[in-house]
Amino acid sequence: MKNISILGSTGSIGTQCLDVIRENRESFRVCALTCGQNLALFRDQLAEFSPGLAVCRSRKDAETLGAEFPDIRFASGLKGICEAASYFDADMVVNALSGMMGIAPTMDAIKAGKDIAFANKETLVAAGEQIMDAVADAGVAFLPVDSEHSAIFQCVQASPGAEIKRIILTGSGGPFRGFTKEQLGSVTVEQALCHPKWSMGKKITIDSATLMNKGLEMIEAYFLFGAGESDIEVVIHPQSVLHSAVEFSDGSVIGQMAEPDMKLPIAYALSWPERLRGVSKSLDLLGAGRLDFEKPDEDLFPCLSLARTALREGQACRIAMNAANEEAVWAFLAGRVGFTDIPAIIERCMDMFCGETVTGIEDVYALEARTRAYAKELAEAL
Ligand code: NDP
Ligand code: MG
Repeated sequence: MKNISILGSTGSIGTQCLDVIRENRESFRVCALTCGQNLALFRDQLAEFSPGLAVCRSRKDAETLGAEFPDIRFASGLKGICEAASYFDADMVVNALSGMMGIAPTMDAIKAGKDIAFANKETLVAAGEQIMDAVADAGVAFLPVDSEHSAIFQCVQASPGAEIKRIILTGSGGPFRGFTKEQLGSVTVEQALCHPKWSMGKKITIDSATLMNKGLEMIEAYFLFGAGESDIEVVIHPQSVLHSAVEFSDGSVIGQMAEPDMKLPIAYALSWPERLRGVSKSLDLLGAGRLDFEKPDEDLFPCLSLARTALREGQACRIAMNAANEEAVWAFLAGRVGFTDIPAIIERCMDMFCGETVTGIEDVYALEARTRAYAKELAEAL
């Protein structure tokens, strides 16, 4: 029996993680849950899973729910999330938070010796050095939930220790694949939120539409698998059947295929090194008919090139890129800037802050705050 603490249990990854746990109650037990603003769903989750600790975003929400669930201990805010991340009863922490707010809880979970099922890519993009050093020091398992990285992880295990020549990182291309520059200039929030293959939280759905998601994933692959920018090839694969592949030094390519269903990588991270039964329906290759592969259009989607630059330039550049992207995406979702303003804001922030020095986690937070303030200014001026 594994005791699981889920950070962000009301989100897309969080709810699917609870689906996997619900279907495998003999293997997993929920010991801590955290939510943001979705109190109605959180209430249902608390009634169903009775965790020892529940964390709300605000103290007021924690007090409200605390009165309804007297047997559960409540906490609130980032401090509360950090408490759930290091909860004494947890064997594994699922980090399903969105954005670099996940840095502090991730560090706390690692320091507390918890194994981590990790979805929260922005945290690794901004603080990969500090996180991976802490993972090595603590000797905890750090298991990818992102479907591409779960795929790469599974491929790598086919030849332990073998030299990797290339990582082939696949992506569906998002809702605007094949659009012209003019068309892209006038897309709406509703269109951008309509992903052709995956149903996900709003932030990652917009990242998928700009291709920043592939850029963030390239950096995630760098930290998880030690592959440099030139060793990672991004390939657009609209059917989302091949979830990524690895080419070994002899030229052999091993890929992982499955129906596009996030429950599969979530379940594998929870159960690794074992596999659970019947998590996803069988892959219907004949139904898929054909598998297409295309080069991404980096002129149309400059976020991918910006991420390449950030990966080459170093940590300050990655922090600036990530914080600016978070601000620009929320400004787009709020209708304050247009779709093509997103890369423009990111580029301006990268120009401004890439030369900064970052030597520790405090510098990460300081640069994050300065970048956010500047990105907000830029968004307002548009
Ligand atoms: P969601 O937006 O659906 O979920 C985010 C979770 O974090 C929710 O539980 C939300 O609470 C909570 N949260 C957000 N802001 C705060 C806050 N300020 N304080 C406390 N809690 C907060 O995101 P996803 O599940 O889609 O994505 C999570 C991570 O996983 C991201 O890094 C994403 O890139 C990555 N990922 C997601 C995939 C997917 O299929 N969704 C696939 C691969 C990676 P609430 O909803 O209650 O407000
Ligand atoms: Mg992914």
